Amino acid sequence: MFAVGEADTVMSGNGKGKLFVVSGPSGSGKSTLCREAIKRTNVKVSVSATTRGQGKNEVDGRDYYFLSRAEFEAKIAADEFLEYAEVFGNYYGTPAEPVKEMLGQGQTVILEIDVQGATQVFEKFGAAMGILVLAPSAEEIKKRLAGRGRDDEETIQKRLAKALWEIEQAKNNKHYRYTIVNDDVERAIDEMVTIFNK
Ligand code: 5GP
Repeated sequence: MFAVGEADTVMSGNGKGKLFVVSGPSGSGKSTLCREAIKRTNVKVSVSATTRGQGKNEVDGRDYYFLSRAEFEAKIAADEFLEYAEVFGNYYGTPAEPVKEMLGQGQTVILEIDVQGATQVFEKFGAAMGILVLAPSAEEIKKRLAGRGRDDEETIQKRLAKALWEIEQAKNNKHYRYTIVNDDVERAIDEMVTIFNK
């Protein structure tokens, strides 16, 4: 874990990398936007660890590092996470070392994490910039969540409630400098690319 002073050095040093935090409710389509924007820019994305089950199209080490609870808790104890949070009964966390290394090399780094985790990052990296991705409406979020076919109705309701709560939290956090409304995917990707290139 960074000491605060150390993190500031990484962020403020000449030629050192910039840190963007992308948040948005599940169903906002932020993963798609990030994936496409990353292809069109020279930024690096941090791969998170999680204890949730692996989706059928997901690849271990690319989408997430899929860990058991015991493995994750051992990493918490060893202070290996830049931030972590419990979301829907599962842990999610950002391994600190790769982020530190990439920033040190002057690379722009993207963290795609929830608002709880983002708050921890903003405390350590005052210069980190938040991007909030929003779906056009709550109805649209629900439709997208159901369309993924990954969750049952109860989980969809929980994700929707969290989505609305997250939006409120993020809107009140000054670190979220940018908001992208994902009503038109191509335009939204362009906006994200523009922000990453700033
Ligand atoms: P999903 O299960 O849909 O992939 O992700 C659920 C939520 O966990 C999303 O809001 C996602 O942004 C968040 N998330 C993914 N990785 C991390 C992480 O490393 N840290 C935190 N705090 N949240 C994460």
